[in-house]
Amino acid sequence: MSCNNSTKKEGPENEAVAEPYQLRQTIYHNGDILTMAGEEASYVEAVVQREGQIIFVGSKEDAMAQFGGKAKEVDLNGQTMLPGFIDGHGHVFNVGLQAASANLLPPPDGDGNSVESLQQILRDWIGSNQEFIDSTGWIIGFGYDDSQLDRYPTKEDLDAVSTDIPIYIIHQSGHLSVVNSKGLELAGYTAETQDPKGGKIRRIDGSNEPNGILEEVAHFMVLLTKILPQMKPELQDDMLVKGQKLYASFGYTTAQEGRSTPDGTATMERAAEKDELILDIVSYVDILSNRDAANSKYQGKTYTNKYRIGGVKLNLDGSPQGKTAWLSHPYFIPPAGEPADYHGYESMTDEDAYKHVADAYQNNLQILAHCNGDSAIDQYIAAVSRANKEFGNNDRRTVIIHAQTAREEQLDSFVKEKMWPSFFPMHTFYWGDYHVNSVLGKERAYKISPTNTAYKKGLRFTSHHDAPVALPSSIRVLSATVTRASRSGQIIGPDERISPFLALKALTDWAAYQHFEEKSKGTIEVGKVADFVILDKNPLKIDPMQLANLNVEQTIKGGEIIYNKKP
Ligand SMILES: [Zn+2]
Ligand SMILES: [Zn+2]
Repeated sequence: MSCNNSTKKEGPENEAVAEPYQLRQTIYHNGDILTMAGEEASYVEAVVQREGQIIFVGSKEDAMAQFGGKAKEVDLNGQTMLPGFIDGHGHVFNVGLQAASANLLPPPDGDGNSVESLQQILRDWIGSNQEFIDSTGWIIGFGYDDSQLDRYPTKEDLDAVSTDIPIYIIHQSGHLSVVNSKGLELAGYTAETQDPKGGKIRRIDGSNEPNGILEEVAHFMVLLTKILPQMKPELQDDMLVKGQKLYASFGYTTAQEGRSTPDGTATMERAAEKDELILDIVSYVDILSNRDAANSKYQGKTYTNKYRIGGVKLNLDGSPQGKTAWLSHPYFIPPAGEPADYHGYESMTDEDAYKHVADAYQNNLQILAHCNGDSAIDQYIAAVSRANKEFGNNDRRTVIIHAQTAREEQLDSFVKEKMWPSFFPMHTFYWGDYHVNSVLGKERAYKISPTNTAYKKGLRFTSHHDAPVALPSSIRVLSATVTRASRSGQIIGPDERISPFLALKALTDWAAYQHFEEKSKGTIEVGKVADFVILDKNPLKIDPMQLANLNVEQTIKGGEIIYNKKP
């Protein structure tokens, strides 16, 4: 029985079966069916699924001999079928928040290319989203990216949009935000407020007056305590539906909620109770704000109504493009107001980091830790190494999320401590040029998300989008992992490119393994779930520079179509 079906359905041998076979069995054929099993590309001519499980892979002749006339036939028309994509790391609930908010992303995903354009987008959004504002009390924008703006927006810029309704706009990294004066007032941030541990309230030059820009904990607390709790459950339910639909449109059949808040957890549980999830969602609860949720009945390795809590999420630093990642060496160009030796900062002490890792190990919870800067990576390695000695390292699949600036000897430590990296090569497209020119300088920038070096050392990994940091686009993940081409066309670290096949492994087979789901997902093999994605072309047979133009035609979850490009 698949781990996805919480209730056993009647098999075809059961006489009480009410529906004809045709409604419950499907034969897929006449396209490239890439199984993703094994170490190199392998194809089959036909696949048969019954009630959400793969029951046959092989030749078309055999499929027809056994199932012809007893199953619905799907002609792939020369398109390519793969296992459904599995989210290496993302935030499906926050994607819903993004979908509900004003879109401040820069091109190609939005129009936010100047402070003035952000103001205009917010004004337009206010005009058609009164219900959202009434429900939450806030105007929310998502995805401003200062690397693509003329300057950093401040509270004055947002005051020009509204002085009586609080405004909260979230940086594309999800690690910073800007609020207007009303927002600062509601957050309780004044000239007298000290910076919280692991965060910063940026100030107007030469004074203690907040300028509206909030970093890390100072930012996250506003979302957590002032905004999310204001949202009615129906609004949050709707956000979760939107998040899943967006994921499905990119071929994902398993989504991660990679830092689940109390509100996010409650929303996912409501959907699971009603059996309304369309994707499998595996959630990792925020260890600081939501640790108790890991004690829920949903915690474990099997899904109930497509939902499970996979473990806990720890956050050890910020984001490189937000210049809050904790580096061992200074930023190439420090952010305004910071000294030349500024190199970001930690989220917590070494001892606290260890305590959280030990908590996860003691309670056999899988742990994911966000580490972008190499100092944060050092801190995590030290904590994991100590916990491995203390509690034993028996197949925990301890994940390091992003590991963007991992140094080569840190990759050796991942091997030694059995840590599993989930890399973020998509940065090479979105911020590759900015990393070279402003964040890291060329030498370090070319080594971000060192997938090829990791592969050669025997590591396996996933490649993620960290949505809503970027759209949950499997296609962009694939393209960036293979080409590492920046917005300007510069190849950010040619030596770290990997083949399209390996990049697909990082979206399927290896992603299943990261989540302890390799027995049921990740490849097209008998006994696994019938989760598939159909692409218009075969990614292994086109020019890699064209990968970004691939289209998801259909997404199939447990044998059911959950996304169809053709309406
Ligand atoms: Zn992260
Ligand atoms: Zn994340």
